[in-house]
Amino acid sequence: MKKIIFLLFVCFSLLSCSKKDKSKVIYSISNAITDSVPLIKISMKFQPDDGEITKLRFQDKAWGEEELYNSIQKMKLLNTKGTVVKNKDSNWIQITHPKGVKELHFEYFLKQDITDDEAAQNRYRPIIYKDYFHIFSHNMFMLPDHFVSETADEFDIVLDWNNFPENYTIHNSFGSEKRKQQIEDVTEEEFHSAIFVGGDFRIHKNEIENNQLVFATRGNWIPFKDSTVSDLLYRTVKAQRNFWKDHSQKYFTVTMMPFPQKEGSSFGGTGLTNSFATSVSNNDQSSIEQLRYLFNHELMHNWIGHAIKNENEEEQYWFSEGFTDYYTQKNIAKNKILKFDEENFIEEMNVTIKNLFSSPVADKPNDEITYDNFWSDRNYEKLPYYRGTVFAFLLDLRIKKDSDNKHSLDDVMRDLFTQSKKDKKLNSKMFVETVNKFTETNIDDFFKEHIIEGQLFDLKTVFSDFDLEYSSKATIFDQGFSYDKEARIVTQVDPNSEAYAAGLRADDVLGGWSIYYGNIDKEIELKVNREGTQETITYLPIKEIDLPQLLINEDNVKKINL
Ligand SMILES: [Zn+2]
Repeated sequence: MKKIIFLLFVCFSLLSCSKKDKSKVIYSISNAITDSVPLIKISMKFQPDDGEITKLRFQDKAWGEEELYNSIQKMKLLNTKGTVVKNKDSNWIQITHPKGVKELHFEYFLKQDITDDEAAQNRYRPIIYKDYFHIFSHNMFMLPDHFVSETADEFDIVLDWNNFPENYTIHNSFGSEKRKQQIEDVTEEEFHSAIFVGGDFRIHKNEIENNQLVFATRGNWIPFKDSTVSDLLYRTVKAQRNFWKDHSQKYFTVTMMPFPQKEGSSFGGTGLTNSFATSVSNNDQSSIEQLRYLFNHELMHNWIGHAIKNENEEEQYWFSEGFTDYYTQKNIAKNKILKFDEENFIEEMNVTIKNLFSSPVADKPNDEITYDNFWSDRNYEKLPYYRGTVFAFLLDLRIKKDSDNKHSLDDVMRDLFTQSKKDKKLNSKMFVETVNKFTETNIDDFFKEHIIEGQLFDLKTVFSDFDLEYSSKATIFDQGFSYDKEARIVTQVDPNSEAYAAGLRADDVLGGWSIYYGNIDKEIELKVNREGTQETITYLPIKEIDLPQLLINEDNVKKINL
């Protein structure tokens, strides 16, 4: 039986190999205005499916958005008779046409379906103004279903950008400032995970080893200058590629959209084909340091997480998130990006140690970091970042000490990257075996205890072992009370806390509160209603605990030897 299936399979693949030429879609994109509403007009030419029905893939629900069909207008067949029907539930547009038609010409218009105010919050919907547009590929280009399901793989795309004014920037995941684009051998996933922007975007080009790195942004930025961001991006990508010895990407772009926000800052980013699309709150509370972290962490995922893939998503988050965070800090410090140095690195490790040890789930085993826990509980969400970073830091020190500084964790990472090119996925066994290539001592137990079982590290012993200087007390964040958010009532106050010392008591009624979670430098301010009057209670939410913290000095910098 097995043999027959095998033979059938071979015949089938031979048949499909010898089939017609590779599929190709030609899109013409142009600007349009109807009733003073700006639109994007897209016409496409392609070979229809064999019968009388051709389906075009276009998702109505995608990336957390619904009703995306609202943005499609005026669909029309241009070269033959037929009907066009939106089939929302199946995520396709269905075209019925005469049998035997050689080519279909089909056009549709895209319209922004949200108001200006909403546009900031809805970055995964088409944004189309007179001066610019910002659209993710899956919300923009319909794709013939039979191209994707028949050839199962690759096809060619031509993009013709028509009638846009000369000073109108055309920029996307496949190139910058090109009015005719030919994209060869692309898969549906690659083509539909892309960003397309146009209009008043400003383009900043850099080159790294003859490869193009392009930063595109628009609007009037309050917190930073274009040139600072572009330089930060250049230094980040160059340092990462040099680290991995990987200059294989010919073209890479980062787009950055400003959005208005009154209070606080927020940074969002999506990793895409040859690109990273970000949007950032445009106010003075957004900082270049936050952007430095975002770029360094997210772009590091091009290797950790994307090239080196987890075998089972959450099971290896200690690696894909924890090691990414460790290498984020290490790379920034080693390359002194925006003046961050080795002393800042030690400071970051101290903070991560505090975060790990003060987490309520600090010593939970790895198999409790499940999909459900990770997405529903902030403590579990943070655990693999903290645990993985501290583990990577201590492992790096171990490898350096064992090998007399001949090797470091860097060698392990590059070795894992090489293995990933042979389609190997990361799991515990592969990781431990790879580390053991570079250490005298077998790390099997160390890995099992601290990653799999989740035991906390005996930092005093470990630091002494590496001859590192440390203080034995740490100041951590401690809110000192718990409360019922709905009822606005304080349910419990720790008698040894700063909250208690400041006068807060159980059953106090809260009129309002301002709490910077995790921040030990900002005071907590509580409005407490007592007998008809309102009192304000403020205190610094801190607690001293026994926990080693590395001293930030030259000796430690030398011994850590980044
Ligand atoms: Zn991440």
